Amino acid sequence: MTATADLNFAVVAGHRVPTDHWIGGERVASPGRFEVITPIDGSVIAEVAAGGAEEADMAVRAAHAAAPGWAALGVAGRSQLLHRLADLIDANVDRLAAVECADMAMLLESLRLRVIHRAAANFRNYADLALAYEERDWHSNGTWNRVQRMPAGPAAVITPWNAPFMLSTWKVAPALAAGCTVVLKPAEWSPLSCSLLADLTAEAGFPPGAFNVLQGVGEQVGAALVSHPLLRRISFTGSPETARQIGVSAARNLVPFTGELGGKGPLIVFEDADLDAAVEGAYFGLFFNQGQCCCAGSRLFVEEKVHDRFVEKVLQKAKAQKVGDPFDPETTQGPQVSQEQCDRIMGYIDAGKQEGAKLLTGGRRLGERGYFIEPTVFGEVKDDMKIAREEIFGPVMNILKFKDVDEVVRRGNRTFYGLAAAVWTRDITKAHRLANGLRAGTVWINCYDVFDSAAPFGGFKMSGFGRELGEYALELYSEVKTVYVNLGE
Ligand code: NAD
Repeated sequence: MTATADLNFAVVAGHRVPTDHWIGGERVASPGRFEVITPIDGSVIAEVAAGGAEEADMAVRAAHAAAPGWAALGVAGRSQLLHRLADLIDANVDRLAAVECADMAMLLESLRLRVIHRAAANFRNYADLALAYEERDWHSNGTWNRVQRMPAGPAAVITPWNAPFMLSTWKVAPALAAGCTVVLKPAEWSPLSCSLLADLTAEAGFPPGAFNVLQGVGEQVGAALVSHPLLRRISFTGSPETARQIGVSAARNLVPFTGELGGKGPLIVFEDADLDAAVEGAYFGLFFNQGQCCCAGSRLFVEEKVHDRFVEKVLQKAKAQKVGDPFDPETTQGPQVSQEQCDRIMGYIDAGKQEGAKLLTGGRRLGERGYFIEPTVFGEVKDDMKIAREEIFGPVMNILKFKDVDEVVRRGNRTFYGLAAAVWTRDITKAHRLANGLRAGTVWINCYDVFDSAAPFGGFKMSGFGRELGEYALELYSEVKTVYVNLGE
């Protein structure tokens, strides 16, 4: 392992991307490297440093050494740097979007027009929110009492592959704003855009070690990172299986950690809904990002009376999609992230057919190269089928029929998950009743995938613990301290 002057890099979609770790303000190489494959045609686009225990130790020590200086900048000093970083992200949208599109194949237009700007907005919001994050003072029983918020210390941030840049900022922004230094470990299937984030922090003037990026395979460098005794916080987004393993390491060192895990959200359409809007919402709610969303509306309950009309409209939409190159602005659905995910999704499609669901459209792989799957819709899905119980994370819509409110609340809640749910109805009483009854961290009514950075996002049950966004995320990265001053009264 050696520090390099950015010796290792790849040229991805015409842009230079450093492929080493970013530790203590410099690029650090590892003897091992792993291949990054583009989902578009299955070719290798970069070879990235594969860290291990040694690099994890180096990164945490760098974050630990930088922690007092980062804390001493105070909220105002950090806030200035975060604003500068947000501006740089906006100024580099085209580069970030192109690299992420090649890396994990979200549609270029989605990345360029919305997703990357949301990442910038996250830094901007936390720059302001941390300033307004109130401390408390009050006087009682002869003492002046103060509750202070202090940075918790170095934090590990572990993120998934499905929106790597934006999702990392949900954690990195509040952590840095609260005064924690950060070691970010992006997912090995899409590690490139987060490497660019490191460059932007340097350009913004972040002190060395305040923000570090550790590259490599989860079971190796990720596991070493989360067991490091100098860490004070861990924030994880990914699968429940990995969360369990991280939880064991966190428990050993008594480090608080949050997990944003998967989902199997009910999306419920009533007969009285604006049907066209519901079809649009349900389609987007499942197929956005090729179905690779933790909050995808992947159990679509449609009221019996409107079922056939709904199905007809949704099939028209599925059949009109253009599956192909995510760089092409005409494309509406790109490839899945990897061969492994593709095989997994095809396994679910087979299970659906075998268990008696009716394949209404799609169901096949497309193309000779890359990881493309047709938009797939199953009808006549039953609650106990595998496709209705497990997270598919792919372009597979499952339609279930229901008759009344109580029934759909009961069935909607019959899952280990509880991340998000949605209801389409014009009846406000019914909408509120559903919002109240559904066990999920977010309920959308007549809309889908709306995120306000002041509103918390996270899961009930096996969908996780802790919350992203708003003041709720700052809580994780802060310690509170009470100071009593004897007034000699
Ligand atoms: P994953 O759990 O396999 O990996 C997530 C991250 O954990 C990666 O960076 C990986 O390298 C790392 N990792 C793996 N093993 C580790 C270990 N032993 N120790 C430390 N780190 C380790 O999940 P994934 O396949 O990348 O992501 C898909 C999952 O993430 C889905 O289940 C999805 O629903 C969930 N997700 C949730 C949200 C949310 O906000 N709730 C958002 C996006 C994705």
